Amino acid sequence: MSKFFSAKYAALTPYVPGEQPKDAQYIKLNTNESPFAPPASVVAAAKQEAGKLHLYSDPESALLTKKAAEVWGVKDTQILMTNGSDEALNFAFMAFCDQTHPIVFPDITYGFYPVFAELNGIPYEKIPLKEDFSVDYHDYVGISKNIVIANPNAPTGLALPLWQIEEIVKSNPDNVVIIDEAYVDFGGESCVPLIEKYDNLLITQTFSKSRSLAGARLGLAIGNETLIADLNTVKYSTNPYNVNRMTAAAGYAALCEAQWFESNCAAIQENRAYTAAALKKMGFTVLDSKTNFLFAKSDKIGGRALYEKLKAKGVLVRQFNAPRIADFVRITIGTKEQMDALIERTAEVLEEEK
Ligand SMILES: *Cc1c(COP(=O)(O)O)cnc(C)c1O
Repeated sequence: MSKFFSAKYAALTPYVPGEQPKDAQYIKLNTNESPFAPPASVVAAAKQEAGKLHLYSDPESALLTKKAAEVWGVKDTQILMTNGSDEALNFAFMAFCDQTHPIVFPDITYGFYPVFAELNGIPYEKIPLKEDFSVDYHDYVGISKNIVIANPNAPTGLALPLWQIEEIVKSNPDNVVIIDEAYVDFGGESCVPLIEKYDNLLITQTFSKSRSLAGARLGLAIGNETLIADLNTVKYSTNPYNVNRMTAAAGYAALCEAQWFESNCAAIQENRAYTAAALKKMGFTVLDSKTNFLFAKSDKIGGRALYEKLKAKGVLVRQFNAPRIADFVRITIGTKEQMDALIERTAEVLEEEK
């Protein structure tokens, strides 16, 4: 730390992204990226825009926003395109939370929530998941605090039904409820239809997972137009050109590929079921994932040891040294071939443990 670093950030512990090895020697199942490259039309759209990089991008991302509004069935004014959904989340923390408006989230969830809270000087409270790692929605009913819940949750992969989300939103009318739907396209129920009914509901989604655009950095927030207007105030006070030209073009093209999107999500769900069955057969406890990853625990080896042994065999998964979940590994769903490799190497590790 330099002597110039602001005291307000001195205690900040930044978010730690999953490893991104520079060499291609690993089967990379650790950061929930898609194993499938985006469609050719998306790559072509980004390439075409590259020739105009001397010009600023459209600060309103108007074409993309209009297309997104169509796809999500909302108005242009109910949507904001962002530089990854992480930016949408940070804007929401900045816009709606402060010293007197703390935020609440589960104890086991996306690691960025406490970081955004600390960055912005927002007090936060964690509510423990149930013994089975599910969110007990009763814990959030009528608490009169801002709330952020990932649905489906990460790294557990478990989802809440829409009616439970509605109970939470309905019972906290004077607070903003943020539902992070980063993984919703893999089998969850989206609460976007509820925005007409509740002016305190803000939803974030991303192109990083189900639309194979993690490297493009594109996300969005959906909610009542007054909430979106507030997010715009924050956006125009930090980074007006938050979505770059190539990304906006790629995102637009991606939204035109409805069929590709459907089969992309279906393939992940198929490979997920296949992998879950194989792991269970080897004695793993596998949570019921509605995402593009599995959260699984072996009855024969600890989480850290399994992570290390798989890494030595060229397969990278994610493990969290946190209470209650240290014995789990989070495995991103890849291609069938990658899943076969994971299953094979895991079987070898368990054999070596005997
Ligand atoms: C991946 C992820 C995000 C955000 O990803 P972006 O790449 O910034 O869109 C947000 N929330 C959760 C729970 C995630 O796993």
